[in-house]
Amino acid sequence: MPAHNLKSMCVIISMYSKQVEESISNANASVGDEIELFDRKTGKKVHGTLMPKTEVGDPNSIVLKLSTGYNVGIKYTDQKEIHLISKKKEHTFVKPELKKKRSLPKVVMIYTGGTIGSKVDYVTGGVYMLTKPEELLGAVPELADIADIEVMPLMSIASEDMGHEEWKKIASAVVDATKMNAHGVVITHGTDTMHYTAAALSFMLHDLNIPVVITGSQRSTDRGSSDGFLNLASAVRVAAQSDIAEVCICMHADSSDLKCSVIRGVKARKMHTSRRDAFKAINSLPICYVDSNGEFEYVGKYRKKTQNGKQTSAFTNMEPKVAMLKAYPNSDPEIIDYYLSKGYKAIVIEGTGLGHAPTSTADESHSWSKKVKKFCEAGGIVAMTSQCVYGRVNSMVYRNLRLISSAGAIHCEDMLAEVAYVKLCYLLGNFSVKQAKEMLVKDITGEITLRSEIDSFM
Ligand code: GLU
Repeated sequence: MPAHNLKSMCVIISMYSKQVEESISNANASVGDEIELFDRKTGKKVHGTLMPKTEVGDPNSIVLKLSTGYNVGIKYTDQKEIHLISKKKEHTFVKPELKKKRSLPKVVMIYTGGTIGSKVDYVTGGVYMLTKPEELLGAVPELADIADIEVMPLMSIASEDMGHEEWKKIASAVVDATKMNAHGVVITHGTDTMHYTAAALSFMLHDLNIPVVITGSQRSTDRGSSDGFLNLASAVRVAAQSDIAEVCICMHADSSDLKCSVIRGVKARKMHTSRRDAFKAINSLPICYVDSNGEFEYVGKYRKKTQNGKQTSAFTNMEPKVAMLKAYPNSDPEIIDYYLSKGYKAIVIEGTGLGHAPTSTADESHSWSKKVKKFCEAGGIVAMTSQCVYGRVNSMVYRNLRLISSAGAIHCEDMLAEVAYVKLCYLLGNFSVKQAKEMLVKDITGEITLRSEIDSFM
C-alpha cells in the first residue's frame, strides 16, 4: 500500500503539569494504562485509560478515555489519588489464521480505510489507519465460516478525503472482482461519505449482477464496543448469500448489536454523527435486515441476480464541475455567478421545504430566480432537491416554486441532494447536456421512486 495513502488522524499532544506528571509516575502509570482516579473527599472513583494531555487542555486536568469511548478531563487536586489498574496492552499484529474453505462462496473484500480500518493509538490518543487490512479479518474470525474471502487493499483513507478519482478506482476494483467470479463484494469504507460512494458506484457500474455491499463502523474494531464486527459479518453474509444485484450499504439497524439493515446505495444517508444506526433508508424501505444469527428478513424492493451472462462494466467518467448549494433565509445567490465564472456545468440546490429558494424577497438581490435563470441560459443545469431530506420536491404547489422552476430549476422528485450531485457528475461525464437534463428526473438505478414509501420516515 503506498505510504502516502496511510494517513493518520492524530491529536496534538503536550505535557501535563509537573505535579500531575509526578503523581502519574508515583503511581507507576503511564499513558495508555488503565487507571482509577480516586477522590478522597467524595469517595468517587473514575475508571479509564490514561490519555495524553491535548495541546489546548488544562495541564492540571487528567484526561481519561472512558469505556464508552469518550474522553473526560478531570481536575487533579491534592485530594485525588491515581491507582494503576493494569498496564497498557500492546496492540501487536497477529496474522490471522484464516482457513480458506473453497466450498464457500467467494467474496472479494475491497479495503478503503475509515474507522473500520483503523485503531486507537493509545500513545497519541488519535485514531490511525490500519496498514494491514488482514487485521480486520483477524478481528472477526467467523468470517472464514461464511465466505472464502479475498482481500483487495485499494487505499487507506478517511472517507471525507475521497473524491471522483477514488470512486473510479473502487468501481474498477469491483469490475475486477466480477472477473474473479466473486459471488459478492464487500467494501470497507469510512462512514462520513459512504452514501456518496454508494451512489457513485450505483451509477457507474452497469450490468451489475452481484451484491456490492459497503460497510464501515462508527467505532474502531479494537474497541470492545465496536459496531464493526456485526457490520462486517453481516456485509459478508449479504455478499456471500443474497441474490441482490445492487450496490447497498450494510450498517447497524438500531442501537442494539442485534441486526443490520441493508439499504439501497442511492437511498441511504448518514443521519447521525456517532450512533451505530446512523444510516437510514430515505423515502424507501431497506432491502432487508440481517440479524446476528445470519437470518435475513427481506422488506423492500431490490434487483435480483440474473442469468443474462453480461459482463459488468464501469462508466468512470465524472464531471468535476458540479456544485452543491444550500438555500436559506437571507442567502446570497451571487454564489451562482461565482460558479458560472469558474465554468461549472451544474448546481444542486438543497432548497427549503418542497424545493424553494428565496424568490420574492423584499431585497431583490436576495432572490435566487434571476441567478438561476442566468446559469441555465448559459447552458448549466440547476437541480432542486430538499434539505428536509425526507419527502418529495414539487414545482407546482406555490407561486415561488413555479417561479424558480420557470427560471430553469429542475425539481428532482424524491432524490436525495447528495445523490443528485453524484448523478449529475455521472450524467455530465458520460452524456450530452440535453441527455443529462432528461435523465436527471428519470429513474436510472432506484434513486427516484414514483411514490415514496412514506413508512420509511424515522
Ligand atoms: N471521518 C472518517 C471517515 O469517514 C472516520 C469516520 C468513520 O469511518 O466512521 O472515514
